[in-house]
Amino acid sequence: MNYCHICDTNQAKGIFIYDLYICESCQTKIVATDPEDPNYRFFVNKLKRIQKSPLNS
Ligand SMILES: [Zn+2]
Repeated sequence: MNYCHICDTNQAKGIFIYDLYICESCQTKIVATDPEDPNYRFFVNKLKRIQKSPLNS
């Protein structure tokens, strides 16, 4: 189990993008979300944490 930073729950299936874990269902949602959908901004803001993480510098 890993903690998904998008839906804020522990999920068994998912991938790591750098240090950020994204569960399988959130990956599917992100891919399926239209950029004009308000939810898309929500996902992008979550993903921006990756770039700001000190672990990547
Ligand atoms: Zn998730």
